Amino acid sequence: MHKKLFIPGPVDVREDVLQKMATPQIGHRTKDASALQRRISDKMRRVMFTNNEILLSTSSGSGLMEGAIRSCTRKKAAVFSVGAFGKRWYEMAVGNGVPAELFESPLGQPTTPEMVEEVLSTGAFDLITITHNETSTGIMNPVAAIAEVVKKYPEVVFCLDTVSSMGGTKIDVDALGVDICITSSQKCLGLPPGLAICSFSEKARQAAETVPHRGFYFDLLALYEYIQKKDYQYPSTPSLPHMFALDYQLDCILEEGLENRFARHAEMAKMVREWATRYFECFVDEAYASKTLTTVKNTRGIDVGALNKQLGERGYMISNGYGDLKDKTFRIAHMADTSVEDLKALLETIESVLSL
Ligand SMILES: *Cc1c(COP(=O)(O)O)cnc(C)c1O
Repeated sequence: MHKKLFIPGPVDVREDVLQKMATPQIGHRTKDASALQRRISDKMRRVMFTNNEILLSTSSGSGLMEGAIRSCTRKKAAVFSVGAFGKRWYEMAVGNGVPAELFESPLGQPTTPEMVEEVLSTGAFDLITITHNETSTGIMNPVAAIAEVVKKYPEVVFCLDTVSSMGGTKIDVDALGVDICITSSQKCLGLPPGLAICSFSEKARQAAETVPHRGFYFDLLALYEYIQKKDYQYPSTPSLPHMFALDYQLDCILEEGLENRFARHAEMAKMVREWATRYFECFVDEAYASKTLTTVKNTRGIDVGALNKQLGERGYMISNGYGDLKDKTFRIAHMADTSVEDLKALLETIESVLSL
């Protein structure tokens, strides 16, 4: 039996989107391939609220995260972390020999504009990484306030991880001044895993030009330049199945309407938080609560594994807490094409399994 996924990626993918993955292949050096990538880029610019170039990567989002920190750090990267995915960015820097420093918030707390100000004002850093929506804890960082601080430092390349939020909530990339905004196919965009997407600003391009060793596959400047020289083609063979599906799914997303889509995610988040407050507690303060997943504090000491097993028998799957938060919390994702009705059915099933 298929389990409906309420885990923070991969998400359930609609049957019509899955079907698009089975589109007959085209040559990746054809006019049709150029047109396909160009259509995707034009539509992604609308979803991301940016005029910057869009780069695709046949990898998961981590590939572009690694590419961003390696391609654009000249002096040193300031990596802000509120959980597992922030820390991953630091590990990528270390693994590539990129100078970086890690600034962690206490578990369950956001990155604050004050922290960013204190770090950037030292003048030691020329790239910053921020996690917009930390999927391990369910925190959505105050990115607008952080962006105001980053804007005071024009030499700093602003990298934002929106892997688990782009397409589920408004991220106005150009208004925030984000230079590299990264997302993956398998979260709020509602596609299977295997494709990553980022925006790439002129500032990021200029920074990359002065970095001598940018690697090869995730050299963001190479991806950018190939698009310019080869009319929207990808340097190696891209996952055309994902591109067919993304081209189609972006039409569906724009047809739903971005504002409607964001409102649906907000409504789902409110519903799960209210439910969590009724029977448990919310792990994250209302002010920093994610719109795309909710982390529930396991105040009843339930056996999360056993709950998930019983949900599985009824066709549902949720996530345990991440890392140290395992069993102390559990996570319910409300992403992509999940409907309010789907979510209601899940919550009622949990109530019935736990006899709440
Ligand atoms: C899932 C996730 C990642 C990792 O993305 P992949 O596509 O699995 O490489 C990074 N950051 C956040 C916030 C995520 O939720």
